[in-house]
Amino acid sequence: MVSPQQPLTTRLAGFGASVFAEMTALAIQTGSINLGQGFPDYNGPDEVLTAAQSEIASGNNQYPPGIGQQDLRAAISEHQKRFWGLSYDPESEVLVTMGATEALAGALLGILNAGDEVVVFEPLFDTYAGCVALADAVLSPVTLRPQSTGRYGFDADELRRAITSRTRVILLNSPHNPTGMVFNKDELQMVADIAQEHDLIVVSDEVYEHLLFDDARHIPIASLPGMRERTITISSAGKTFNTTGWKIGWACAPSHLLHAIRMAKQLFTFAGGTPFQSAIAAGLRLPDSYFQQLAKDLQSKRDILMAALQTAHLNPIRPEGTYFITADIRDRWPHGDAMDFCRALPEACGVVAIPGSVLYDQRHADEGRHLVRFAFCKQTSTMQAAAKKLTEWA
Ligand code: PMP
Ligand code: GLN
Repeated sequence: MVSPQQPLTTRLAGFGASVFAEMTALAIQTGSINLGQGFPDYNGPDEVLTAAQSEIASGNNQYPPGIGQQDLRAAISEHQKRFWGLSYDPESEVLVTMGATEALAGALLGILNAGDEVVVFEPLFDTYAGCVALADAVLSPVTLRPQSTGRYGFDADELRRAITSRTRVILLNSPHNPTGMVFNKDELQMVADIAQEHDLIVVSDEVYEHLLFDDARHIPIASLPGMRERTITISSAGKTFNTTGWKIGWACAPSHLLHAIRMAKQLFTFAGGTPFQSAIAAGLRLPDSYFQQLAKDLQSKRDILMAALQTAHLNPIRPEGTYFITADIRDRWPHGDAMDFCRALPEACGVVAIPGSVLYDQRHADEGRHLVRFAFCKQTSTMQAAAKKLTEWA
């Protein structure tokens, strides 16, 4: 009989239950407004929803090809060209995955050997640390910190020091969850120079590629000279079409890199989401106005939340993109940490947020003790109700 004690692999020892699930459960239990887990509370475009419905009704419900349906691969390739000027062959350089999560897992488990090091900017999305641990590889975090300019940034020397002879991958995320930082050309060039100098692979998570505010501009690192050949670019339909529950994502890379992801991915889900794949192909072909309006609407929600957090003395840092604002709670919560704050906030004010502290490497836990993440990808009425609760609590 299998012992009931300690069935969990030692690779995952030290990982707790997902904080996203905990905070969503807390929102339901307390009837609070959920600004925790990053998912919209409104539907995506009708063209995408009705395309999925008609695919299901017409019987397109069996396994798709392992690499993904041809129409979606073609649409992804067209999208990369239309928005970012990047060319990928839909037959050999595009892979459809079950969300960006599977593309990330496939890339990391398909590439890394035990003991390899992965340089990543923290705070970081929790999947990254989990996949690096499952690969028996080592996370080497470089911390993003608010700068005097009011945006986040990193120290170039700290990045250089993080590289060792064991470094194999730089895992980049821009626009960045949770800070909302959009890496600018100079910052990306620094990463690109280091990747080329040390012959590293860059895994670039660009799921928030269309969610940009003010004059922020998304630059895929694969578009910098010499980078396409060493970069795996990952994205997801979840954020662009408000379909986070469909889990349709993709990876674009030169065929030798894509092969590594495919080898791993075929062992996880093999393939899935057939009717949703065709619907996302329709979404990716929507006119530019759809993508512009998406960002514009989200920016107005960001502004509602920024104002409320300022009034509540929670010192928000203005995001340049994504679904999220990070706030420094020290003025309001001088003696506790972000986790206590997030456990207390629903009772105190009827709003749920995510403690940023859990998104740091354990060795750097102090960096995020005072950081809380609020999501604003909710209907305007939800954001106004949350803003009212936060300002009344102020
Ligand atoms: N990367 C980042 C930075 C994210 O915030 C998320 C959250 N959804 C994902 C990847 C996962 O995307 P998906 O839901 O498509 O798996
Ligand atoms: N990416 C979303 C977030 O950061 C969802 C994460 C999750 O549910 N695992 O909130």
